[in-house]
Amino acid sequence: MTAAAVAPLLEWYEAEKRDLPWRHTRDPYRIWVSEVMLQQTRVEAVRGYYARFLEALPDVRALAAAEETVYLKLWEGLGYYSRARNLHRAAVVVCEEFGGRFPEDHKALLSLPGIGDYTAGAVASIAFGARVPAVDGNVLRVVTRLLNDGRPITDPKVKADLRGKVAGIVPADAPGAFNQALMELGATVCVPNGAPRCGSCPLMHLCEGYHLGTAAGLPVKAAKKPRRIEPRTVFLLRCGGKAALRRRPPKGLLGGLWELPSADGELSPAQAGALLAEWGLQTGQLLSLRPAKHIFSHVEWHMTGYYADCAAPAEGFAWAAPEQLREEYALPSAFRPFLSVL
Ligand code: SF4
Repeated sequence: MTAAAVAPLLEWYEAEKRDLPWRHTRDPYRIWVSEVMLQQTRVEAVRGYYARFLEALPDVRALAAAEETVYLKLWEGLGYYSRARNLHRAAVVVCEEFGGRFPEDHKALLSLPGIGDYTAGAVASIAFGARVPAVDGNVLRVVTRLLNDGRPITDPKVKADLRGKVAGIVPADAPGAFNQALMELGATVCVPNGAPRCGSCPLMHLCEGYHLGTAAGLPVKAAKKPRRIEPRTVFLLRCGGKAALRRRPPKGLLGGLWELPSADGELSPAQAGALLAEWGLQTGQLLSLRPAKHIFSHVEWHMTGYYADCAAPAEGFAWAAPEQLREEYALPSAFRPFLSVL
């Protein structure tokens, strides 16, 4: 990467950057929360979550002291729940080992649970002015296009090499603005899935991908394995106006989170009835619910749904009133389509 990119990039960022809530602070806690929320989630979707999370848990001590039910509820619908659990674990470490102050050093930040190279770089540069890069997918796209680099960014060696190229030009006097500017360019101008908006790009004069006409095909990624399709059967079971919930097994997909009771496979009404009896539930007639799909990163659930009224609340389930479902229990969005009948 050429250092000639720095000045036009910073100038463009100053003039064009979006007004986002986490850009008004240098508080490492707030920056960290925003960066973790923004992983695999759109900016517009994050805004509301960010405001609610910080209102309830305004600093790292509040997060460290929070119950799991509280921070998972605040995370409900954002997905990738391990991010929320790691956020909490890291907050505990910051309080117990660093006296409640975020470590400023990039290496120490990397030692916190759930903080990878990108997040450590973002927090260190934006909150503390450290001269380190923060290379996410947006930045990799911009850099491969600028350099017309056709190597696969899915290869960790290629990624490390590109990170090194960015590191070489991070300006000492504005590392946070520089990192954010590269990300912003990737998010708003050098966009994925189609033609980049080169006509609006402050780096067009330096961009090999633009001059060679290769930009839209970059970056190159190794082919992904197709997602595994998993059929499931989900039950909306009601007793006295309350719905049955159950904890998922601690390991695996949505580990330890609440779910509507569910089972592997697409069960016929007869099989579903037999399973409910096995669970100790006496139910009235089973009604079919509209099937639903949910896409995770490596798996797709294709879900069959049944509704049943139960004669009595059986053991092994939590029974939640509608307001408890709204306010207390964090239910992953995979199950939400089946709640619409309530
Ligand atoms: Fe991306 Fe086009 Fe700018 Fe190159 S000129 S960095 S391809 S937007």
